[in-house]
Amino acid sequence: MITEVFTADQLKKESPVFGQLSFNDHEQIVFCQDKDTGLKAIIGVHNTILGPALGGTRMYNYSTEWDALNDVLRLSRGMTYKAAITGLNLGGGKAVIIGDPKVDKTPELMRRFGKFVDTLGGKYYTAEDVGMETSDMDTVREVTPYVTGISESKGGAGNPSPVTAYGVYMGMKASAKFTYGSDELSGKKILVEGIGHVGEELVRLITEEGAKVVISDINEERLNQVHKKYGAEIYRGADVYTEQADIYAPCALGATVNNDTINKLRVKIIAGAANNQLADENIHGAALQEKGIVYAPDFLINAGGIINVFAEIEGYGRDQIITKTENIYNTTLDILHKAKATGLTTNESALSIAEERITNRKKEILG
Ligand code: NAD
Repeated sequence: MITEVFTADQLKKESPVFGQLSFNDHEQIVFCQDKDTGLKAIIGVHNTILGPALGGTRMYNYSTEWDALNDVLRLSRGMTYKAAITGLNLGGGKAVIIGDPKVDKTPELMRRFGKFVDTLGGKYYTAEDVGMETSDMDTVREVTPYVTGISESKGGAGNPSPVTAYGVYMGMKASAKFTYGSDELSGKKILVEGIGHVGEELVRLITEEGAKVVISDINEERLNQVHKKYGAEIYRGADVYTEQADIYAPCALGATVNNDTINKLRVKIIAGAANNQLADENIHGAALQEKGIVYAPDFLINAGGIINVFAEIEGYGRDQIITKTENIYNTTLDILHKAKATGLTTNESALSIAEERITNRKKEILG
C-alpha cells in the first residue's frame, strides 16, 4: 500500500533519513528495539510548537522497515496539523510497532514500548491506533504516565473511536451541506471501507439517519456481524473503487486515493476516518478537485479521537468533548467554502489554516 507511494528506489541512498520524501522537518525520530520481547518500534515526533506531541501507536505487519518508517513519518506530520486545525495545544507525534498484533503483541512487549515512551519525558504522549486496544494502553500506563486513551475505570477517557466516528459524521454532514445544499444523509448511498472500531460506529450513525450503507472489509466475520447488526449491504463486486455512490468513507488504512483509484472513483464526496487518504496530497488533492469530488480533509474530520484523549491531559469532561467534536461541522464547511473561493484544494486550504496557527505560536515563543 505505502510501497507504491514511496518505493525504496525513490529514497535517496546517500541520505536515507533526512532524504526521505516523507521527512518533513521532524524534530526527533526514535528507533526502539528490545530483543527479549521482540519489540521493534519507531516513535516520530514531528512538531512540538503548540504542545507535547500526541498520537497513537499503530501495530502492523509492515512488509519492509521502510514502509514502517514512511508510515510513522507521514502519520506524525498529520497529527501536527490535526491538533493545530482543531485548536488544541498539542504537537504531532505517532509511533509504529512492527509486527502482527494478533501474534506478536504481548503485555511484556507493550510495557517495554511504554518504557521507551517514558524516556521522552512527556515530549510524546501515546494513544491507541490500528492494531491496539484500550487494554494495551492500560498496560503502557503501568510504566509511564505519558499515555492517553486508558480505560474509563482507570480514570481515562476510554476508547476514542466512537468520538472519532462522531467527528467524521459531522464532517460528512458538512460536506453534504456544501455539495447538496442539505446535510441530510437520509437516502444517500454511502460506501464505508473498513468497518473496524471507527467504521462500525460510523455505520451505526449513518444507518440511524436513513442512509443506504454499503460496507467493505477484508475481514469476512466483521462484514457479517455489521451486516446483521445494522442491515448494511455487503459489497460483493470485484473492485470497490468503481462502485457508484454519493459518499465514499475510507475507514481502513491510508493512501486509498491514489493513481490507480482516482480514475475509477464514481462518488461526489470523500469523507472518512483513515489517516493520509491521499497517497500524494499534492497530486491527488488537485486530481479530486478536477474531477469535482469534494474531499473533506482527513486530518480535520477524524480529530474526534484526539479531542477525546486530549481531555485526559486537560481534564475536561464529556460535554466539552462533544461540543469540540461537533465544531468539526463548522470548520469543515468553512474550509470547503474557503477552498472554493481561493481555488486551493480543500487539503491545501485546511493545511494553510493549521500552518498559520503554528507559525503564529512560533513567533510568540521566539518573541
Ligand atoms: P481498526 O483496526 O479497528 O479497523 C480497521 C478496519 O479496516 C478493520 O476492520 C480491517 O479489517 C479493515 N481493513 C484493513 N485493510 C483493509 C482493506 N485493504 N480493505 C478493506 N478493509 C480493510 O482501526 P480503526 O481504529 O477503526 O481506525 C480506522 C482508520 O481511522 C485508521 O486509518 C486510523 O488510523 C484512523 N483513525 C482512527 C482513530 C481512532 O480513534 N480509532 C482516530 C483517527 C484516525
